[in-house]
Amino acid sequence: MQPRRVAVLGGGPGGLYAARLLKLAFPSCEVAVHEQGEPDTTFGFGVGLAAGTQRKLAAADPDTLRDLVAAGCRHDMTLRVGGRVARVRNDRLIGVARTELLAILQRHAEKAGVSLHFGARESAADLDADLVVAADGVGSATREQGSFGARIGTGRGLYLWCGADFALDDALFEPVRTEHGVFVTHAYPYGTGRSTFLIETDEATWRRAGFDRTPEDTSSDEVSLRYLQDAFAETLRGHRLIGNRTRWLRFRTVHCEQWSAGNTVLLGDAAHTAHFSIGSGTKLAMEDAIGLVEALRDTGDLPNAFARYEADRRPAVERLQELARRSRLWWESFPARLHLPVEQLMVAYMTRAGNVPLERFAATSPDLVATALTQYAGTPPPPDGLVDWVLARRPVPPAGLVTLDEVVDDPWDDVGDAVVARAREARERGAPGFRFTGPGDRDALLTRLDLAERVRLEAGGLILVEGPAALRDDLAAGLVSARTDLIEETA
Ligand SMILES: Cc1cc2nc3c(=O)[nH]c(=O)nc-3n(C[C@H](O)[C@H](O)[C@H](O)COP(=O)(O)OP(=O)(O)OC[C@H]3O[C@@H](n4cnc5c(N)ncnc54)[C@H](O)[C@@H]3O)c2cc1C
Repeated sequence: MQPRRVAVLGGGPGGLYAARLLKLAFPSCEVAVHEQGEPDTTFGFGVGLAAGTQRKLAAADPDTLRDLVAAGCRHDMTLRVGGRVARVRNDRLIGVARTELLAILQRHAEKAGVSLHFGARESAADLDADLVVAADGVGSATREQGSFGARIGTGRGLYLWCGADFALDDALFEPVRTEHGVFVTHAYPYGTGRSTFLIETDEATWRRAGFDRTPEDTSSDEVSLRYLQDAFAETLRGHRLIGNRTRWLRFRTVHCEQWSAGNTVLLGDAAHTAHFSIGSGTKLAMEDAIGLVEALRDTGDLPNAFARYEADRRPAVERLQELARRSRLWWESFPARLHLPVEQLMVAYMTRAGNVPLERFAATSPDLVATALTQYAGTPPPPDGLVDWVLARRPVPPAGLVTLDEVVDDPWDDVGDAVVARAREARERGAPGFRFTGPGDRDALLTRLDLAERVRLEAGGLILVEGPAALRDDLAAGLVSARTDLIEETA
């Protein structure tokens, strides 16, 4: 189809990139972006762009990608616990300052002929265009006022996003224990002399530290920033934590039953969000832009184009949202795993959402995985056949394991609490441990391993998880990550 006038609401990465790609695909179309902020003011510090995203951007728009890569800062990934460090090499993960990312996207949009309008809050309904792209972010008023069947879930933990005026050597995950509880940073460098620090904690710690009594306003929460600066003083090497409208937040996961209504289509965070711990919000928004423009180019009218866009994008978005959900649950319960050696904890991190098979991780980080397997088994692994080796080291389960077959969605919710309570009672009555059984599909097995881990941590005893032989990778990862002590393969 050939749109004549397109209005894009929101000049974040999704809106700006969609505007440029639209103008390149339909040179005679008028494309305007309406952004409430000023060109050089934005929230946040840096964003990460992984290899897969860079490949997609390279195919859609090599010029923009070239500038993004030039502005980015490559880094490896480290996990540091109690002074011990596990490092994973990552050749194509870059951090880019959000300000720089937006400046590049603004420049390329203008170069393509897009008109950019800053400084006024607009409403999708008032924009005069045959197509309105609503890229107005996680708080999208378009979504809230329209009929998109939106559902918003809220994370249990609290996080705040701040920065520091020095560049870390690598991305860093690090927990710090204060008198109030554990705070964990996800930090990474994103330019010369700049790092993002995203710091999260659980609600009880947050309350004990008195952060629930911080007055509500829109400026940065300086009390929390100073507290965290002290807590992470060693990591910060004497530098300050810097806020930019930095407040404690709970992550909001957005799902919509439909992404379009009339001539308006949602894109990026307005349509869906995925927990920050998989670093994919910018990627999803920019890939949505690619998908939308392809659908418009290949179909005859708006309803068909919107249907095609949604059909193309929804499976990838929902898959990432599910990975992000598992990742969020893992991070929200992270302090419970701090007794693990750091290499084993890194394996648990990499396999937390079922996205990275153990052997693939071993192929990219052989020394780290060999150390983790030695920690797990007490003896070094062979060079190949790791899954077979892990699964072959299988002691005979003791008699008297109590069977638990609850099917839960979220092992850390109140249904999970009830399972833990029953497991504790069974332990008091002398049960040696538990056998977790249930459906054979992969989602069910991954959740069962997570529930087993929680019971292992909170009720103790020997834990056995049943799972299909076809899912041996997940069973092996569950053992090495200390989610379970034993596994039993079923048909
Ligand atoms: C703590 C945290 C860490 C993150 N880390 C990463 C990361 O490492 N990697 C990554 O890829 N992503 C990360 N993200 C996510 C990422 O920032 C967003 O997913 C991404 O910016 C979404 O792009 P967007 O264009 O959809 O929306 P946004 O970037 O939110 O842009 C929406 C724009 O619309 C404007 N707007 C809203 N309403 C109106 C209106 N009515 N009129 C005019 N303008 C309007 C806003 O001012 C804003 O500029 C993180 C997010 C958070 C919260």
